[in-house]
Amino acid sequence: MLEARWKFDNSYARLPERLFSNVLPTPVRAPKLVVLNRSLTAELGLNEEALRSEEGVEVLAGNRIPDGARPLAQAYAGHQFGYFTMLGDGRAVLLGEHITPSGKRVDIQLKGSGRTPYSRGGDGRAALGPMLREYIVSEAMHALGIPTTRSLAVVTTGETIIRETELPGAILTRVASSHLRVGTFQYAAQWGTREELCALADYALERHFPEFEAVANRYLFLLEQVIKRQAELIAKWQLVGFVHGVMNTDNMTISGETIDYGPCAFMDTYDLKTVFSSIDTEGRYAYGHQPYIGGWNLARFAESLLPLLDDKKEKAVELAEEALGQYSKWYEYYWLGGMRAKLGLAEEQEHDAELITELLRLMEEYRADYTNTFRALTLGEYTGMELFDTSEFREWHERWQTRLSKESVSREEAYERMRRHNPAVIPRNHRVEEALAAAVNCGDYQVMARLLKALADPYAYSPEQAEYAELPPPSDQPYRTFCGT
Ligand code: AMP
Ligand code: MG
Ligand code: MG
Repeated sequence: MLEARWKFDNSYARLPERLFSNVLPTPVRAPKLVVLNRSLTAELGLNEEALRSEEGVEVLAGNRIPDGARPLAQAYAGHQFGYFTMLGDGRAVLLGEHITPSGKRVDIQLKGSGRTPYSRGGDGRAALGPMLREYIVSEAMHALGIPTTRSLAVVTTGETIIRETELPGAILTRVASSHLRVGTFQYAAQWGTREELCALADYALERHFPEFEAVANRYLFLLEQVIKRQAELIAKWQLVGFVHGVMNTDNMTISGETIDYGPCAFMDTYDLKTVFSSIDTEGRYAYGHQPYIGGWNLARFAESLLPLLDDKKEKAVELAEEALGQYSKWYEYYWLGGMRAKLGLAEEQEHDAELITELLRLMEEYRADYTNTFRALTLGEYTGMELFDTSEFREWHERWQTRLSKESVSREEAYERMRRHNPAVIPRNHRVEEALAAAVNCGDYQVMARLLKALADPYAYSPEQAEYAELPPPSDQPYRTFCGT
């Protein structure tokens, strides 16, 4: 038998029992591997041939537990659309943490692996379409340079699941630097003892912020670091036009990785009000609202940490507020820095923010495509958009060119910088749907493979990518996404 080279350790299972339930994946009838992430397989030090073998696929389907794994479902809580509730892994099982050849510790989680004590009314299963969607979008995010959970594989189960119709079932192998969430802390703060909360916080520090040894108040440090990472992450989302769609506190990681690709989608036309999720009727998680929601979620995180920040409640609140006050500063810092880079600017100058704001205002007014506007600026090719034919844009362009000439770096270097920060391609909704339809309805994975190839190096500006930059045909129906399938 070929060795897949799994190397499990299970540090999460050594945490207080209240934080998880020991549970095995529910075996499935006829597992079949439909997608395997070869570069991630190599990065993790796993053997591709072994993963593709019958035994290997049984592991990815939850039918066989690899040596050293200790499956569990994590408990967590969360604010869903503002309302606090008990949650937990309702359809996922953590096999354990795999240690990569370079010594990195990553969670290996099977999503769609059957019921757990946290399933509530759900069946614990997932449908093929949404698992492939998570695979495509998470890998695209990774290639864009945005911290994210990864997708190692998708297997079909040979079983159907019942939603509005019958759908083919599937399991996604999700790889994450951890699955610790703001909601994990909310759960421990709400239902655990102080010692349990403390154990969780120490665990998060050890795993993600080992520099904590050098600081006076390690829990304040934890709060500050998570704030900083989330500010950076959400700035990166804004810079590429990514709409997460379900920024509940259980979907916000401590590591700063993007998690939960249910109803997410990329914005085409620049519009702060962009919402894709069918259930987000109030626009709580609209594109332009994401930075604010990030701060709101971090305030919930800070509240959970209060008992650890200081013995005196008043002092703890003071420290938390001070830390939370840094969020918008960090966010501005990362966003403005990112926007400068998108315009080829390496240096900070006084009126940069105005230059950027004016461009965004014009994009909004003329309903310009977000990605393709920056693509056009990068290539210097101004066709196909109303925006480019306006005198306002020409004036703006002149201002921008003047600003570029004040840089100490050459024009060439500035355009190089733009190429590294403005993706030539993003996972456009119509192309994702096309790939999913071919795979799910016809068992044809070629369309998806071609899309993944184009998305694997979004800054390449290769001729083969050009077709993926094209916009969807005009439609009177807004694009809608769904979660929980
Ligand atoms: P989400 O909106 O994707 O963050 O999911 C919210 C919660 O619902 C999480 O605790 C999930 O584990 C749970 N959940 C989603 N789908 C199912 C399902 N089919 N069966 C059981 N639990 C589910
Ligand atoms: Mg979730
Ligand atoms: Mg989800």
